[in-house]
Amino acid sequence: MPPAPNENLPVVVIGAGPVGLAAAAHLLERGLEPLVLEAGPGPAAAVASWGHVRLFSPWRYDVDAAARRLLARTGWTHPDPDALPTGADLVEKYLAPLSDVLGERVRYGTRVVAVARDGADRTRSRDREQRPYLVRHTTGTEVHEVRARAVIDASGTLGTPNPLGPSGLPAIGEERAAGHLAGALPDVLGADRERFSGRTTLVVGMGHSAANTLLSLVELRREEPATRIVWAIRGASPRRLYGGGADDELPARGLLGTRLRDAVEAGAVELLTEVAIERLEPAAPDAVRVLGTTADAALDLAVHTIVNATGFRPDLAMLREIRLDLDPVVEAPRRIAPLIDPNLHSCGTVPAHGEAELAHPDDGFYLVGMKSYGRAPTFLLATGYEQVRSVVAALAGDRAAADAVELNLPQTGVCSSDRSLAADADGVVPAGVPVDVDGGCCATPSGPQPVTIGARR
Ligand SMILES: Cc1cc2nc3c(=O)[nH]c(=O)nc-3n(C[C@H](O)[C@H](O)[C@H](O)COP(=O)(O)OP(=O)(O)OC[C@H]3O[C@@H](n4cnc5c(N)ncnc54)[C@H](O)[C@@H]3O)c2cc1C
Repeated sequence: MPPAPNENLPVVVIGAGPVGLAAAAHLLERGLEPLVLEAGPGPAAAVASWGHVRLFSPWRYDVDAAARRLLARTGWTHPDPDALPTGADLVEKYLAPLSDVLGERVRYGTRVVAVARDGADRTRSRDREQRPYLVRHTTGTEVHEVRARAVIDASGTLGTPNPLGPSGLPAIGEERAAGHLAGALPDVLGADRERFSGRTTLVVGMGHSAANTLLSLVELRREEPATRIVWAIRGASPRRLYGGGADDELPARGLLGTRLRDAVEAGAVELLTEVAIERLEPAAPDAVRVLGTTADAALDLAVHTIVNATGFRPDLAMLREIRLDLDPVVEAPRRIAPLIDPNLHSCGTVPAHGEAELAHPDDGFYLVGMKSYGRAPTFLLATGYEQVRSVVAALAGDRAAADAVELNLPQTGVCSSDRSLAADADGVVPAGVPVDVDGGCCATPSGPQPVTIGARR
């Protein structure tokens, strides 16, 4: 039987994060019907989970243009463009109101578990392009399916952290030790305080998340000196994260790196380099034994909690039946991979890119937002907003608008962790804190790289 026409079907957006909700706003503006399926209980569940963390990009780069236009009709006022929101601010002051405007077009507690071409598995080519997408999702224990004319997967990567093992596989015993893993961004000074106070924590990783968690633990240790902090990195030196110093190719990075280096030098943080975590074993009472190797010796450490800030990877299992064109290294759409490969870039010179770079062999299917960067940690919201503007223009048949991609970011100032550290409780950054601080937002395993955000194509 020939496939049914698709024009009256919605465009399914997976994930009601900042980029998914922006996609919905663009779809509405273009007269296309969005249906946003979100696994969490409310808008931007992933951002809400790191609500205590302050963004490094000020509000002016955090709000999508179509979303702003949609919200403007409700009397919504744009927060101070120069202030830095926390994740909680972003949800409360922007994404929750946006989700309210979208109303029943956003369904919560709805997890997408598979996407396919209706009636055609991955190998079947006949009539493939005419077939709608079939999106299978769960609500509680119930399984449902919805058909879609196109699918925009904006489901992020926060749900699939990289494992601790050195080969990209879980350390032996890692799944069983899951209760000791706190994720990359625990609220050390707030909701999760009890878990860390007066206890031993191993922080694994060398990116923005690890650095912020370490500094929070150092602050906790000042109040509760029995708190022990061990920091494990895979590399030989944390110099890239510290920044500055006469022998460093990078210019001074200021607050984040300096504070961290001071904490290590003062002995508040015990640094282990060239760490390979091979095995986790239960250790009494209430601890886990971490076994492997370090630069100097065997690793054998009993800790209460491990902060696994080892980066994230996309969940591709639910896309098994879709014909994707992914880069074999970073698992991003092949054409954007060279722009964001963490072996080559820090916060990367990321040219604007859109539908043409994000398309796959299965037309009408797109990875956008954080997930479109695969394993690369260099994603910025402003880039994602431009992605969805372009993708939606293409879906609406406006090829010229889809191809006219542009990123209006300054060369600097959207990617500075130091500014978020210096901000006051309202997110206002005192005068004099430099905007041109390099690479605070993301980790990279490679050597020092100059950082330029927003180069145009
Ligand atoms: C601590 C931190 C600070 C950051 N600071 C900045 C910053 O200052 N500036 C900047 O530009 N960027 C920043 N980023 C990077 C990036 O902008 C954010 O990660 C952003 O949240 C990505 O948006 P997203 O919509 O692509 O994905 P997410 O925000 O991760 O949203 C994905 C949504 O999809 C849902 N979901 C997941 N799986 C499914 C499924 N199977 N079915 C249905 N729903 C699903 C999730 O619950 C979630 O709500 C930061 C990231 C982190 C982690």
